[in-house]
Amino acid sequence: MSAEMLTRYAGWPVIAGAGLAGLSTALHLDGPCVVLSPSPLGENAASSLAQGGIAAALGPDDSPALHAQDTLAAGAGLCDPAIVRTMTQAAPDAVCTLLEWGVPFDRHTSGALDLHLEAAHSRARIAHAAGDGSGAAIMRALIARVRATPRIIVLEGASLRALDVHENRLRGIWAGLSYIPTSACVIASGGVGALYAEATSPSGNRGLGLAIAARAGARLADMEFVQFHPTALDIGDRPGRRPLVSEAVRGAGAALIDETGERFTDELASRDVVSRAIAAHLHEGHRVFLDARKVLAGHFAQHFPTIAASCAAIGIDPDIHPIPVRPAVHYHMGGIEVDARGRSSISGLWAAGEAACTGLHGANRLASNSLLEAFVTGQSVAQDLNAISLPNAHHVADAPPALTSAHDYGRLMSAEAGILRNEAGLSKLRRRLSSDALQDDHALVGAFIAHAALQRRESRGSHWRTDYPERAAPHRNSFILADLPLHATSLEYA
Ligand SMILES: Cc1cc2nc3c(=O)[nH]c(=O)nc-3n(C[C@H](O)[C@H](O)[C@H](O)COP(=O)(O)OP(=O)(O)OC[C@H]3O[C@@H](n4cnc5c(N)ncnc54)[C@H](O)[C@@H]3O)c2cc1C
Repeated sequence: MSAEMLTRYAGWPVIAGAGLAGLSTALHLDGPCVVLSPSPLGENAASSLAQGGIAAALGPDDSPALHAQDTLAAGAGLCDPAIVRTMTQAAPDAVCTLLEWGVPFDRHTSGALDLHLEAAHSRARIAHAAGDGSGAAIMRALIARVRATPRIIVLEGASLRALDVHENRLRGIWAGLSYIPTSACVIASGGVGALYAEATSPSGNRGLGLAIAARAGARLADMEFVQFHPTALDIGDRPGRRPLVSEAVRGAGAALIDETGERFTDELASRDVVSRAIAAHLHEGHRVFLDARKVLAGHFAQHFPTIAASCAAIGIDPDIHPIPVRPAVHYHMGGIEVDARGRSSISGLWAAGEAACTGLHGANRLASNSLLEAFVTGQSVAQDLNAISLPNAHHVADAPPALTSAHDYGRLMSAEAGILRNEAGLSKLRRRLSSDALQDDHALVGAFIAHAALQRRESRGSHWRTDYPERAAPHRNSFILADLPLHATSLEYA
């Protein structure tokens, strides 16, 4: 069966994903481009849900060097120091550009930006907008700008389905059953959180861009590093996304308590430490709550309107009740391995934002560094594309290979590749997923995570092996599809 040819876009760069990374790429390009967005712009993207804000050394007591130092400390020895330097130096300009583009960052009455302090940052450096609605405010401004830019064609309802790669060079992409001949594609499809049963991520974050890139031969790196947020709202067995109770609530002085009313951990320790403490306490049969009653009594909704609304939906008033919380998957440090320009191991394939693995985060992301990364990687990819002339593209292709992404492995992923991992559980997970991975994209991404986590026989950053609790010599994992022990015969691409 042949694919419908979208020849009117032949040769244009195609951007798969319309979160902050995808829109930043599109807006920084000089020429025409196509943006594939499975949902209406702004919906089903982690970018729209970001609460805390974007990290940048903007305060008088701060510097990119201090920001870099905090990023390296959080990354637990696995960050790429050159990338960390580049990103932290680019951060103040990124916030200035966002201001120019109309993002209404919150300010003091003096007019200076109101910068928040977040856990593991040594300075107040988080620029935020609309209180805890930072991501939505940023996305509103960028969407308005995209809509006002005629050279950007947004195909709403369209998803990247496969890449057409010949001799390690891109010659086209399939969006659904349609084919666009092109020598440039940017994967900006976000993270993998929704592969897990409990995640703060939207349902669109299932790692499909990673699976598509891997099937075409791209290298994926740091796949074992999945960050858990310690305090997602505990909504019990209800399906779907777990609303986030941001670090800023603990920053404001709220205490983590159990059902006896006792504190059991340091609320301001790093995310992985607090997540492990809560996971262990839950494992012992306790319930865990975030108690903001004393510190924010009567003012909670004023400071945290989004969180207050999520609490209200399950009958909790944070001024009166402690908020039930438990850890949930929040961010993926791994992804498509890229260099400083966002280039992957396939010629013509770039990646930006959470789908990319730049080396900024190492084994653990510093809070509020990911909106920064999404914006700056989009900019770097666009600058790289602006500097090269893309050849005419005219390849004609058949329909893409038949693959599914129908299965839900969430419970298995949460149980075996969660906060606490071990050889037996990870081997079981890899065995189970490997038998489906050649046909199913969810299974393939899960198999990469299980394989990388098995290979890392140590505990570091967000990766905690109960059977290897110590650190080993630092090394980074990066794999291609052929490195995985998958069971069936390989699929042929058209
Ligand atoms: C609740 C929450 C709060 C957060 N708070 C903060 C914060 O305060 N500060 C911070 O720095 N970070 C925060 N993060 C992380 C940050 O929001 C994300 O890392 C960042 O927004 C990722 O941007 P992105 O553009 O890469 O991905 P996304 O914004 O997730 O966008 C990716 C888009 O690609 C689409 N897509 C998926 N598959 C395909 C496909 N096959 N083809 C085409 N499109 C596809 C998805 O539907 C989605 O719309 C938070 C995350 C969550 C979940």
